[in-house]
Amino acid sequence: MIVAQSKSQTGYLCVTCGAQYLPSTEPPAACKICSDPRQFVGLDGQRWTTLDILRVTHTNLFFDEESGVQSIHIEPSFGIGERAFLIQTAEGNLLWDCIPLLDARTIKAIRRLGGIRAIAISHPHFYTAMVEWSLAFKNAPIHLHADDKQWVVRPHENIRFWSGDTLPLFGGLTLIHTPGHFDGFQVLHWRDGAEGQGALFSGDQPQVCPDRRWVSFMYSFPNWIPLGASAVQRIVRTLEPWPFDRIYGAFAKRTVGNNAKERLQASAARYLEAIGSPAQEATRGERREARPGSQPRRTAAARLERIK
Ligand SMILES: [Zn+2]
Ligand SMILES: [Zn+2]
Repeated sequence: MIVAQSKSQTGYLCVTCGAQYLPSTEPPAACKICSDPRQFVGLDGQRWTTLDILRVTHTNLFFDEESGVQSIHIEPSFGIGERAFLIQTAEGNLLWDCIPLLDARTIKAIRRLGGIRAIAISHPHFYTAMVEWSLAFKNAPIHLHADDKQWVVRPHENIRFWSGDTLPLFGGLTLIHTPGHFDGFQVLHWRDGAEGQGALFSGDQPQVCPDRRWVSFMYSFPNWIPLGASAVQRIVRTLEPWPFDRIYGAFAKRTVGNNAKERLQASAARYLEAIGSPAQEATRGERREARPGSQPRRTAAARLERIK
């Protein structure tokens, strides 16, 4: 009797976003993350790959960002092309955001740097192969905000969902819930970053612009849908109490090196002015009702100040 050999199961990765799905014998019918308006199905249709293939075709590169911060990039670019960060503290290392490739060389390099105590990821576009990373580093817990639970396409017991506004981790690291681009969007604050002045790891919200004096906001980057004014105002308000001088964005070299808090506030004001925010409309209304010359024209920064 011939017994049909069962096909082995693989955790397929979406080529467009890098998300790894639950192991299966055949690739999923569609990628949930790329079927959403904040992403897109690849121009050649839905395509899938595997980690075994990526380990042959791609490699990870490490870059020193500052003392205790390494960024990790996949080369050549794959999926969305974001960078991950290894943040080293006296109480252990955190992997912030994630990339699709994990290979023996990367594991060895990170073990030399002290391994990974925990993983946290800004939002579903960067979930990629998070479970593989956790499994390779002693089941490091993956901290995700519960409001994005529906976007986890490879559920696993190592994922810890948290609710609320902030989650202190260890070593001066804190997750801050800043909904907008995604309901469960979170940024990472590191008290000891930027030479002790504080650093913010923002994923793509705020997104550090090519002109690195500025950041911006989008609901959908590939489909050019701006983020609404109220979400932008709330993000700036939420981050106001946190000291930081630097913002590390999602992509290579997209870092606001210093004065990042001021740059965030100026950028939000510029953005709100560009989209004709309700705050701006209200200001115009007041101006119309005021007696001529009785009220000076508010600057964008003053308008932002007013809506805080
Ligand atoms: Zn996808
Ligand atoms: Zn995104």
